[in-house]
Amino acid sequence: MNCRHCKHSLQHVFLDLGFAPPSNAYLSKEQLTKPEHYYPLKLYVCEQCWLVQTEDKTQADELFSSDYAYFSSVSQSWLDHAANYAKMITKRLDLNSDSYVIEVAANDGYLLKNFIAANIPCLGIEPTASTAAVAENLGIPILREFFGQTVAQRLVQEGKQADLILGNNVYAHVPDINDFTQSLKTALKPSGTITLEFPHLMRLLEQTQFDTVYHEHFSYLSLYSVIQIFEHADLHVFDVEELPTHGGSLRVYGCHANDNKETTCTLSEVLKKEVESGMRRLETYQEFQFRADRMKDDLLLFLIEQKRKGMRVAGYGAAAKGCTLLNYAGIKPDLLSCVYDAAPSKQGKFLPGSHIPVFPPSTLIESKPDFVLILPWNIQTEIMQQLSYIHEWGGRFVVAVPAITIL
Ligand SMILES: [Zn+2]
Repeated sequence: MNCRHCKHSLQHVFLDLGFAPPSNAYLSKEQLTKPEHYYPLKLYVCEQCWLVQTEDKTQADELFSSDYAYFSSVSQSWLDHAANYAKMITKRLDLNSDSYVIEVAANDGYLLKNFIAANIPCLGIEPTASTAAVAENLGIPILREFFGQTVAQRLVQEGKQADLILGNNVYAHVPDINDFTQSLKTALKPSGTITLEFPHLMRLLEQTQFDTVYHEHFSYLSLYSVIQIFEHADLHVFDVEELPTHGGSLRVYGCHANDNKETTCTLSEVLKKEVESGMRRLETYQEFQFRADRMKDDLLLFLIEQKRKGMRVAGYGAAAKGCTLLNYAGIKPDLLSCVYDAAPSKQGKFLPGSHIPVFPPSTLIESKPDFVLILPWNIQTEIMQQLSYIHEWGGRFVVAVPAITIL
């Protein structure tokens, strides 16, 4: 197997989580009696370009099926993040009614609706039918396709190159990162700007966020590796911001290599941090499995202990990261009776692999669990505010990442 980006032979396993079903393949009651597809979930690190990547075994069309259930608009903090970004970038790039904005993986229109409101022409690219339909209802033009060279070249022919192309939490999810990056270049005006947000591998390493590993998440990115990938596509990274979203993300700013946008000093500062945290040393990656296993063991110990004491533990947030954690730990409904989630598309279904049922949060008040395990720890503050009523019956919150903690 060779590196997705630089084609160097991949020798070093970074993390092996065994086999798991696709994390967004929620099951209906009828599907529980049928066989489930499991795929290896193993990450490698490339010692040439330091891209961390999954084994390339799963097909994108199975992972992003038409009933893919992730709707961005469900999280209020994510909506606020999108609105703040739109405001900031409109000002920074001086966008107006003559500009053109393209968002790759526009989801349910959670972000582009801000540009529509500001009268800035835009286009969303979103292959998932259920979310695309919601975006279209908001008046956002959507291309229901996967972004790649075919789409990018058609946009050029139609005179629709962008002043701004943005992609939030899509870059790590594309199977062919070189083709995707090249396509960004094709669809970009000569003076245009690209911004991409993705979880920062440095945070995953520091905080043992191994539950952010799932099949749909093909690449685990550092600033260093993204600079390599952009340069290979004749693009240039000229700025970067560190964001608190998704447990610590980067927002990189790119332009054509021959564009003379000024490179900021933040770029060298973040690169320096990456070196200092050991991101270009093999040992940093080789000790990670041990840390992930210890965290998994600690969660199991906690759940078994509560079960023996007769305490009831429920989960909150049926997100992909919860599925990875529960499946790797082999947790089933005897240890975690159910998971509550605000997304109607997930309610009444069962988590892939563990078959833990998903219930609407309204039923939490009736069942009064002793502990609520927050699975999407990245939005734990928001969840704790929403569910603060559990304190009325002495309920308490728990997170498993970066260490099992009763809050
Ligand atoms: Zn490589």
